[in-house]
Amino acid sequence: MYIHTLSFNPWQVNTYIISDQTGECIIIDPGCFGKDEEKKLSDFLSSGNLKPVRLIHTHLHLDHVFGTKYVSEKYNLKPECHPDDEFFIPITKDYASQYGITLNDNPPPPGKYLNDKDEVKFGKSSLSVIHLPGHSPGGIAFYSDKDKILVSGDVLFRDSIGRSDLPGGDYDSLIINIKEKLMALPPETVVYPGHGPATTIEYERFNNPFIR
Ligand SMILES: [Zn+2]
Ligand SMILES: [Zn+2]
Repeated sequence: MYIHTLSFNPWQVNTYIISDQTGECIIIDPGCFGKDEEKKLSDFLSSGNLKPVRLIHTHLHLDHVFGTKYVSEKYNLKPECHPDDEFFIPITKDYASQYGITLNDNPPPPGKYLNDKDEVKFGKSSLSVIHLPGHSPGGIAFYSDKDKILVSGDVLFRDSIGRSDLPGGDYDSLIINIKEKLMALPPETVVYPGHGPATTIEYERFNNPFIR
């Protein structure tokens, strides 16, 4: 698997494009906001001859869905997410306006739900879904045991963890899920978070002040 990171919008969301030797790819959390960022994403895909086959979300907070409509329409893909975050969709525009951002539309509804232990397949590759409520109720991470990679959304960051004070957030669940489900992964697993630099499970196990 090849992972490419594009950082988008005022919140600097990491949009991940994960491809394999077949040229198929998945797009995780399309945060692209506005024409320039949309073009940056499309140019990256076309320059690498990549074919997007799935549009998936770690969760549906505003900063992770700015480009969902664009990607969905341009590549004819239905968004995929955990059902417990679906309630964010009809309130996205209102949320954006609280931050002074005008959106023309809410993101499109999901075409497929991703639940715990589901497999996200593309090309010859597969990622398994890990449900991690706490930052948001429908927060999920994507893990490959073969490649030892984890896309962690806003649950786990380098030296930090996600906030739990947004609607549906819960601090205790967040900490328990991180400790029981993520810290149990092999130490060499490379973690790709929703914001900021990549890290590893081993590094966080010994250095993250929230989970030591
Ligand atoms: Zn978030
Ligand atoms: Zn975020």
